Amino acid sequence: MTLEIEVVSLFPAMLDGPLAESIPGRIQEHGLVSIRTHDLREWGLGRHRSVDDAPYGGGAGMILRPEPVAAALDALRRPESMAILLDPVGEVFRQARAADLATRSHLILVCPRYEGVDERIRSLVDLELSIGDYVLTGGELPALVVIDAVIRLLPGAIEEASTLEESFSDGLLEYPQYTRPAVFRGMDVPSILTSGDHGAVARWRRAQAEERTRTRRPDLAADD
Ligand code: SAM
Repeated sequence: MTLEIEVVSLFPAMLDGPLAESIPGRIQEHGLVSIRTHDLREWGLGRHRSVDDAPYGGGAGMILRPEPVAAALDALRRPESMAILLDPVGEVFRQARAADLATRSHLILVCPRYEGVDERIRSLVDLELSIGDYVLTGGELPALVVIDAVIRLLPGAIEEASTLEESFSDGLLEYPQYTRPAVFRGMDVPSILTSGDHGAVARWRRAQAEERTRTRRPDLAADD
Protein backbone atom coordinates (compact mmCIF):
# COMPACT_ATOMS: atom_id res chain seq x y z
CA MET A 1 0.00 0.00 0.00
CA THR A 2 1.22 3.50 -0.81
CA LEU A 3 0.87 6.15 1.87
CA GLU A 4 -0.37 9.34 0.26
CA ILE A 5 0.57 12.67 1.83
CA GLU A 6 -0.76 16.06 0.77
CA VAL A 7 0.95 19.16 2.13
CA VAL A 8 -0.73 22.56 1.96
CA SER A 9 1.67 25.48 2.24
CA LEU A 10 2.31 29.02 1.00
CA PHE A 11 5.88 27.93 0.21
CA PRO A 12 5.67 24.45 -1.34
CA ALA A 13 9.21 24.76 -2.72
CA MET A 14 10.46 24.61 0.88
CA LEU A 15 9.24 21.01 0.95
CA ASP A 16 9.95 19.76 -2.55
CA GLY A 17 13.76 20.09 -2.34
CA PRO A 18 14.40 18.26 0.94
CA LEU A 19 11.88 15.52 0.14
CA ALA A 20 13.60 14.72 -3.15
CA GLU A 21 16.96 14.01 -1.49
CA SER A 22 18.54 10.97 0.13
CA ILE A 23 16.33 8.40 1.88
CA PRO A 24 13.01 10.35 1.55
CA GLY A 25 13.65 10.58 -2.21
CA ARG A 26 14.39 6.85 -2.43
CA ILE A 27 11.32 5.91 -0.38
CA GLN A 28 9.20 7.86 -2.89
CA GLU A 29 10.97 6.30 -5.88
CA HIS A 30 10.19 2.87 -4.46
CA GLY A 31 6.49 3.80 -4.42
CA LEU A 32 6.03 3.42 -0.64
CA VAL A 33 4.83 6.99 -0.32
CA SER A 34 3.50 9.59 -2.69
CA ILE A 35 3.84 13.19 -1.51
CA ARG A 36 2.03 16.07 -3.21
CA THR A 37 2.55 19.70 -2.25
CA HIS A 38 -0.18 22.30 -2.80
CA ASP A 39 0.07 26.08 -2.81
CA LEU A 40 -2.52 27.46 -0.38
CA ARG A 41 -2.96 30.43 -2.76
CA GLU A 42 -4.75 28.04 -5.11
CA TRP A 43 -7.65 28.53 -2.68
CA GLY A 44 -6.89 32.22 -1.99
CA LEU A 45 -9.63 34.85 -2.07
CA GLY A 46 -10.27 37.34 -4.86
CA ARG A 47 -8.06 38.57 -7.65
CA HIS A 48 -5.01 38.69 -5.35
CA ARG A 49 -5.63 35.22 -3.99
CA SER A 50 -5.45 36.68 -0.51
CA VAL A 51 -5.05 34.24 2.39
CA ASP A 52 -4.48 36.40 5.49
CA ASP A 53 -5.92 39.29 7.44
CA ALA A 54 -5.35 41.31 10.63
CA PRO A 55 -6.40 39.74 13.96
CA TYR A 56 -9.74 40.74 15.46
CA GLY A 57 -9.03 42.54 18.72
CA GLY A 58 -5.73 43.91 17.40
CA GLY A 59 -2.21 42.67 17.95
CA ALA A 60 0.94 41.93 15.97
CA GLY A 61 1.09 40.14 12.64
CA MET A 62 -1.41 38.58 10.31
CA ILE A 63 -3.63 35.52 10.70
CA LEU A 64 -4.49 32.99 8.00
CA ARG A 65 -8.15 33.38 7.13
CA PRO A 66 -10.23 30.24 7.59
CA GLU A 67 -11.84 30.10 4.11
CA PRO A 68 -8.73 29.20 2.03
CA VAL A 69 -7.59 26.54 4.50
CA ALA A 70 -11.12 25.12 4.74
CA ALA A 71 -11.42 25.06 0.95
CA ALA A 72 -8.09 23.21 0.69
CA LEU A 73 -9.28 20.65 3.24
CA ASP A 74 -12.62 20.25 1.43
CA ALA A 75 -10.81 19.66 -1.85
CA LEU A 76 -8.27 17.16 -0.51
CA ARG A 77 -10.21 15.28 2.15
CA ARG A 78 -11.37 11.70 1.64
CA PRO A 79 -13.19 9.40 4.05
CA GLU A 80 -9.90 7.82 5.15
CA SER A 81 -7.94 11.08 5.48
CA MET A 82 -6.25 12.27 8.63
CA ALA A 83 -5.90 16.06 8.49
CA ILE A 84 -3.13 17.50 10.63
CA LEU A 85 -2.46 21.11 11.57
CA LEU A 86 1.15 21.96 12.45
CA ASP A 87 0.92 24.27 15.43
CA PRO A 88 2.98 25.03 18.55
CA VAL A 89 -0.06 24.43 20.77
CA GLY A 90 -0.62 20.93 19.37
CA GLU A 91 0.30 17.51 20.76
CA VAL A 92 4.08 17.19 21.01
CA PHE A 93 5.18 14.91 18.18
CA ARG A 94 6.77 11.70 19.41
CA GLN A 95 7.88 8.37 17.96
CA ALA A 96 4.65 6.61 18.96
CA ARG A 97 2.64 9.14 16.93
CA ALA A 98 5.05 8.69 14.00
CA ALA A 99 4.40 4.93 14.16
CA ASP A 100 0.64 5.56 14.27
CA LEU A 101 0.74 7.89 11.24
CA ALA A 102 2.81 5.32 9.31
CA THR A 103 -0.21 2.96 9.45
CA ARG A 104 -2.58 5.48 7.80
CA SER A 105 -3.28 5.71 4.08
CA HIS A 106 -3.89 9.43 3.52
CA LEU A 107 -2.43 12.35 5.48
CA ILE A 108 -3.12 16.03 4.86
CA LEU A 109 -0.63 18.37 6.53
CA VAL A 110 -1.56 22.04 6.83
CA CYS A 111 1.38 24.43 7.27
CA PRO A 112 0.35 27.89 8.48
CA ARG A 113 2.58 30.98 8.39
CA TYR A 114 2.45 34.44 9.96
CA GLU A 115 0.85 34.34 13.43
CA GLY A 116 -0.94 31.10 12.64
CA VAL A 117 -4.43 30.22 11.52
CA ASP A 118 -7.91 31.36 12.55
CA GLU A 119 -8.98 29.38 15.61
CA ARG A 120 -12.06 27.95 13.84
CA ILE A 121 -9.82 25.80 11.62
CA ARG A 122 -8.97 23.60 14.61
CA SER A 123 -12.43 22.05 14.44
CA LEU A 124 -11.82 20.99 10.81
CA VAL A 125 -8.67 18.93 11.44
CA ASP A 126 -8.24 15.57 13.17
CA LEU A 127 -4.98 16.33 14.94
CA GLU A 128 -2.72 19.26 15.84
CA LEU A 129 1.01 18.55 16.12
CA SER A 130 3.86 20.58 17.58
CA ILE A 131 7.44 19.48 16.98
CA GLY A 132 8.69 21.00 20.23
CA ASP A 133 8.62 23.94 22.60
CA TYR A 134 9.98 26.63 20.29
CA VAL A 135 8.44 28.83 17.62
CA LEU A 136 9.40 28.62 13.95
CA THR A 137 8.32 30.97 11.17
CA GLY A 138 6.03 28.45 9.49
CA GLY A 139 4.72 24.90 9.43
CA GLU A 140 6.93 23.70 6.56
CA LEU A 141 9.91 22.56 8.64
CA PRO A 142 7.59 20.87 11.17
CA ALA A 143 5.82 19.12 8.27
CA LEU A 144 9.16 17.91 6.95
CA VAL A 145 10.06 16.60 10.39
CA VAL A 146 6.77 14.71 10.65
CA ILE A 147 7.01 13.33 7.10
CA ASP A 148 10.61 12.21 7.52
CA ALA A 149 9.89 10.47 10.82
CA VAL A 150 6.79 8.74 9.40
CA ILE A 151 8.00 7.54 6.02
CA ARG A 152 11.17 5.88 7.31
CA LEU A 153 8.86 3.63 9.38
CA LEU A 154 6.93 2.39 6.32
CA PRO A 155 7.51 -1.34 5.81
CA GLY A 156 10.38 -1.76 3.35
CA ALA A 157 11.62 1.85 3.65
CA ILE A 158 14.79 0.99 5.53
CA GLU A 159 16.23 -2.10 7.18
CA GLU A 160 13.66 -3.06 9.82
CA ALA A 161 16.28 -3.81 12.48
CA SER A 162 17.40 -0.18 12.48
CA THR A 163 13.97 1.10 13.47
CA LEU A 164 13.35 -1.61 16.09
CA GLU A 165 16.35 -0.80 18.26
CA GLU A 166 16.76 2.94 17.81
CA SER A 167 16.03 5.69 20.31
CA PHE A 168 12.42 6.01 21.55
CA SER A 169 11.25 2.78 19.85
CA ASP A 170 10.86 1.04 23.21
CA GLY A 171 10.88 4.03 25.54
CA LEU A 172 14.68 4.00 25.71
CA LEU A 173 17.47 6.04 24.17
CA GLU A 174 19.76 4.04 21.92
CA TYR A 175 22.88 2.37 23.36
CA PRO A 176 26.34 3.75 22.40
CA GLN A 177 27.54 2.76 18.94
CA TYR A 178 31.14 2.37 17.71
CA THR A 179 32.87 1.67 14.43
CA ARG A 180 36.51 1.46 13.35
CA PRO A 181 39.17 2.35 14.44
CA ALA A 182 39.39 0.30 17.65
CA VAL A 183 41.35 3.11 19.31
CA PHE A 184 40.60 6.75 18.49
CA ARG A 185 42.58 9.55 20.18
CA GLY A 186 43.30 7.26 23.10
CA MET A 187 39.65 6.17 23.49
CA ASP A 188 39.05 2.40 23.22
CA VAL A 189 35.99 0.58 21.91
CA PRO A 190 34.46 -1.35 24.86
CA SER A 191 36.05 -4.81 24.72
CA ILE A 192 32.68 -6.60 25.02
CA LEU A 193 31.78 -5.39 21.50
CA THR A 194 34.74 -7.25 20.02
CA SER A 195 34.29 -10.36 22.20
CA GLY A 196 32.05 -12.18 19.70
CA ASP A 197 29.66 -13.06 22.56
CA HIS A 198 26.32 -11.94 21.09
CA GLY A 199 24.36 -12.56 24.29
CA ALA A 200 26.79 -10.48 26.32
CA VAL A 201 26.69 -7.71 23.70
CA ALA A 202 22.87 -7.65 23.79
CA ARG A 203 22.85 -7.50 27.62
CA TRP A 204 25.50 -4.72 27.64
CA ARG A 205 23.53 -2.69 25.09
CA ARG A 206 20.29 -3.03 27.03
CA ALA A 207 22.00 -1.95 30.27
CA GLN A 208 23.65 1.01 28.52
CA ALA A 209 20.34 2.09 26.98
CA GLU A 210 18.63 1.94 30.37
CA GLU A 211 21.43 3.85 32.10
CA ARG A 212 21.50 6.53 29.40
CA THR A 213 17.75 6.97 29.54
CA ARG A 214 17.80 7.19 33.35
CA THR A 215 20.52 9.86 33.40
CA ARG A 216 19.69 11.87 30.27
CA ARG A 217 15.93 11.51 29.82
CA PRO A 218 14.26 10.33 33.03
CA ASP A 219 11.01 11.74 31.60
CA LEU A 220 10.96 8.92 29.01
CA ALA A 221 10.93 6.23 31.68
CA ALA A 222 8.24 8.17 33.54
CA ASP A 223 6.07 8.15 30.38
CA ASP A 224 5.91 4.34 30.19
N1 SAM B 1 1.36 32.73 17.15
C1 SAM B 1 1.71 31.35 17.22
C2 SAM B 1 1.85 30.93 18.67
O1 SAM B 1 2.25 31.76 19.49
O2 SAM B 1 1.60 29.75 18.99
C3 SAM B 1 3.03 31.09 16.50
C4 SAM B 1 2.90 31.17 15.04
S1 SAM B 1 4.35 30.68 14.19
C5 SAM B 1 5.23 32.20 14.04
C6 SAM B 1 3.79 30.38 12.55
C7 SAM B 1 3.45 28.96 12.24
O3 SAM B 1 4.63 28.17 12.28
C8 SAM B 1 2.51 28.25 13.17
O4 SAM B 1 1.18 28.57 12.91
C9 SAM B 1 2.83 26.80 12.90
O5 SAM B 1 2.21 26.34 11.72
C10 SAM B 1 4.32 26.84 12.64
N2 SAM B 1 5.08 26.47 13.82
C11 SAM B 1 5.92 27.25 14.51
N3 SAM B 1 6.50 26.58 15.52
C12 SAM B 1 6.00 25.32 15.48
C13 SAM B 1 6.20 24.15 16.26
N4 SAM B 1 7.01 24.14 17.32
N5 SAM B 1 5.53 23.03 15.91
C14 SAM B 1 4.68 23.02 14.86
N6 SAM B 1 4.46 24.11 14.09
C15 SAM B 1 5.10 25.24 14.38
